[in-house]
Amino acid sequence: MRVVISGIPGVGKSTILEMVSKKTQYEIINFGSLMFDMAVDLDLVKSRDDIRRLDVDTQKNLQKKASNKIGKMDNIIIDTHMSIKSPAGYLPGLPEWVLRELMVSSYFLIESTPEEIKRRRENDSSRSRDSDTVQDIKEHQEVNRYYAAAYSVYSGATIKYIYNPDNHPEIAAESILGGL
Ligand code: AMP
Ligand code: MG
Repeated sequence: MRVVISGIPGVGKSTILEMVSKKTQYEIINFGSLMFDMAVDLDLVKSRDDIRRLDVDTQKNLQKKASNKIGKMDNIIIDTHMSIKSPAGYLPGLPEWVLRELMVSSYFLIESTPEEIKRRRENDSSRSRDSDTVQDIKEHQEVNRYYAAAYSVYSGATIKYIYNPDNHPEIAAESILGGL
């Protein structure tokens, strides 16, 4: 079984996944880390946040290679994105050729209020976050729901929305564990 856990940058995905990892037998695979390692080998990027600023064809190429690897693994939770906000526009995280490799059985979308996400991004100096407005963040979360619906059609996968409340990531973690 392969499931996908997603959430826009700053939603608290890494914190929640850390909690989930302690209570599940599934291995957590970070899609972005696979892409990052390949991009570093090719001398294309210095940081994870440079990936979404590469030209779209290069991103798709890395994405395809990462999905080839992940498609060979089973009983995993894939940490990735429904869409990536690139300068050219939203890039689907799971275009048809990725869906075909992965055959996902459920999608979990971690969400928070746009105001809270904006605050978390401002307080995170470890990443080069985008300076999106509250309206931009709201749009990105909405767009991700549309992408998830489209992806679920491909394999009949379920979709669960996970609300990450302020200062209580354990509630979101429990909600994911209850759906695995
Ligand atoms: P993360 O640390 O999870 O935000 O991942 C780092 C970067 O990897 C993201 O900002 C994207 O540029 C890239 N990435 C992750 N998952 C995907 C995907 N499914 N398709 C394309 N790019 C991705
Ligand atoms: Mg993260």
